[in-house]
Amino acid sequence: MDDQLAVRLKAYEGRPAAVAGVGKDPVNAPMIRHWCEAMGDHNPVYRGPRAVAPPTMLQVWTMGGLSGHAGRAPAYEELLGLLDGAGYTAVVATDCEQEYMRPLRPGDEITFDTVIESVSARKTTRLGSGYFVTTRTDVRAGPERELAGTHRFRILKYAPAQPKPPAQQKPPAREDHRPRPVINRDNAGFWAGVERSRLLIQRCTACDTLRFPWLPGCTTCGSPEWDTVEASGEGTVFSYVVMHHPPFPAFDPPYAVGLIELAEGVRIVSNVVGVPYDKVRIGMPVRLEFRRYDEELTLPVFQGVAE
Ligand code: ZN
Repeated sequence: MDDQLAVRLKAYEGRPAAVAGVGKDPVNAPMIRHWCEAMGDHNPVYRGPRAVAPPTMLQVWTMGGLSGHAGRAPAYEELLGLLDGAGYTAVVATDCEQEYMRPLRPGDEITFDTVIESVSARKTTRLGSGYFVTTRTDVRAGPERELAGTHRFRILKYAPAQPKPPAQQKPPAREDHRPRPVINRDNAGFWAGVERSRLLIQRCTACDTLRFPWLPGCTTCGSPEWDTVEASGEGTVFSYVVMHHPPFPAFDPPYAVGLIELAEGVRIVSNVVGVPYDKVRIGMPVRLEFRRYDEELTLPVFQGVAE
């Protein structure tokens, strides 16, 4: 079936994606200035009466904005639709290549054509299997429509390799069930710890700073390397609120939600349990416990410790 798909995809090579597109604005000094500021490029050739546009702005002059371009041809959308229909629903821009033939200057009117240059054979990447689709835009300038440059843009349309996280495969939650945590790559280790009744704090292995909630990098030194330490479970109420929202089946207001300062020094938000909501106080000692809310959900909560 993929062989048939490959044949159909190949048939799009050489077909237009945009025909006789017209740049919405001529090359102009304000857009050049904004670009240079954003890039931190202070080259004086991009300023003044004899200014040229930065060559890498080539694509900018062809962009259609939210409203798009009149010159769009249907082939590119069809091609993407075909890939979507075959399960290659994800997309990532992989790279672009530009060639410059003539400098662009303020006042140059831009026209362009885009062609689907190539569709690769099916490739397997770390993201998943898919097809690389390359488009080439020829950017022309001035009344003579002189070729100013070409812009090749490549995307990978792929079928995501990872199975969906379990949360997305489950049937819709029952109303009286608490909302599920959103588990992602950055916090999966935390929730894996909770499953084993362990409250794990991230520790930067470069500078030893502890961090919570979980993040991909150290907020102190920027290092992406980390390990974990298990919280002792001792803490105090650093601050709290009492929730009085209207009745919702999964919750039983009023109840106290604390910002708990763990003995290790980081803070975590969770319910304060075991004491009446109106007896919770700042500075109250609390102790971690894992409370099972339903057959799938266990959460770390904090038991108020009577003084
Ligand atoms: Zn660090």
